[in-house]
Amino acid sequence: MKNVIRLNFEIREAIIESGGQDAIKCYQCGRCMAACPLNLLESINYTTYRFCQRIRLGAIIDGENKEDIADDTNDVFRCVGCDCCKNECPRGVGLSDVLRAVRRILVDYDSYPNELKGVISRLYNTGNPFGEAAEQRNAWALDFQVPRFDGSYDYLYFACCLPSYDSRCQEVARATASLLNKARVSFGVLGEQEFCCGEAVRRVGAEKVFQTALKSNIEAFRKNHVSKILTTSPHCFLTFTRDYKELYPRLEAIHATQLFHALIKGKKLVPKKPFNKTVVYHDPCTLGRQMGVYDEPRAILQSIPGLQLVEVPVYNRESSVCCGGGAMGLWLDWPQGERLADVRVEQILATGADAVAVACPFCLNMLEETMKSMNAHIEVLDIAEILWSSISERPAK
Ligand code: SF4
Ligand code: SF4
Repeated sequence: MKNVIRLNFEIREAIIESGGQDAIKCYQCGRCMAACPLNLLESINYTTYRFCQRIRLGAIIDGENKEDIADDTNDVFRCVGCDCCKNECPRGVGLSDVLRAVRRILVDYDSYPNELKGVISRLYNTGNPFGEAAEQRNAWALDFQVPRFDGSYDYLYFACCLPSYDSRCQEVARATASLLNKARVSFGVLGEQEFCCGEAVRRVGAEKVFQTALKSNIEAFRKNHVSKILTTSPHCFLTFTRDYKELYPRLEAIHATQLFHALIKGKKLVPKKPFNKTVVYHDPCTLGRQMGVYDEPRAILQSIPGLQLVEVPVYNRESSVCCGGGAMGLWLDWPQGERLADVRVEQILATGADAVAVACPFCLNMLEETMKSMNAHIEVLDIAEILWSSISERPAK
């Protein structure tokens, strides 16, 4: 009797209480569906507006057992939290917040994708999604003498989990540290006291694990007198700015591209060596659409001699398409034909650029892995890496 809708107003109230109140504002115009990048995939018909309707009717978490519910709510976990829909919605509905409320209930009921269960459990137990030892957080630093932050430095550098543990993303942390040293910006790290910022676990609905991350980091910030925090990941930047401030008001977060831009303007960093390539910039959803940082990354790239900056036609800045890594998409293995990263990589390849510049470790990982799977010969580089190659004594790539 799948085509008979069962109404359950307790479910509706539970979703609203979990933060899904925007669903009530929706008047079913469908503009969000036109804006949602998931509908650029031919095999997907992501009827975004129907989520609001189903929530209003209390007809969304319905089934005899956890497996039935998980099957029925699989689509709830497709949303990458990119906020393209919110930008278009005449009623200001944040569908990613609405879906996060649904996810909170599903996570509490243990009815959500198995891949996510593993990541969330590792993160809760070790402070990072890979299950690596906290003592290895500074493995990226290799021969750098990065001091322990104690309040006397300009910035706490919060590298984020991917640059701390993933061998490719560690290069971004090293380029960042090299640039800071060159510009004589003093910084320290928290080492094993650093816990994942928790932004992705919150988006996916694991609110209790997010609260653990929040409390653990705030305790470390207090103990070490942190106020200015520099992030490589836009996801850390967003959550420190929006979620942490309430409990720790003195926190001032800055994204690496903002600081590098200021250092170039102040002549503390002077790009000299030519980077003779055509580069397309991919706007990360979290840095661009959600935090409004569009110009600084482009200004950095334009300051590098020889670099020719191009744009993805139409789908740039506010209209950029997600790499697919948001809201723990990095760990969800959707079948071929249902992966957002494929769409973005096709758009990037069509520009004919030699390299794509990113400013987010999730984008770096998603785009690079997808390029490899497509046998595409285009470099994926973080802006810190490109900038450092134009400044360092080593030959530029
Ligand atoms: S754009 Fe906004 S009001 Fe229109 S259907 Fe989507 S959520 Fe509802
Ligand atoms: S946040 Fe992005 S992926 Fe999610 S429904 Fe909105 S447009 Fe689609």
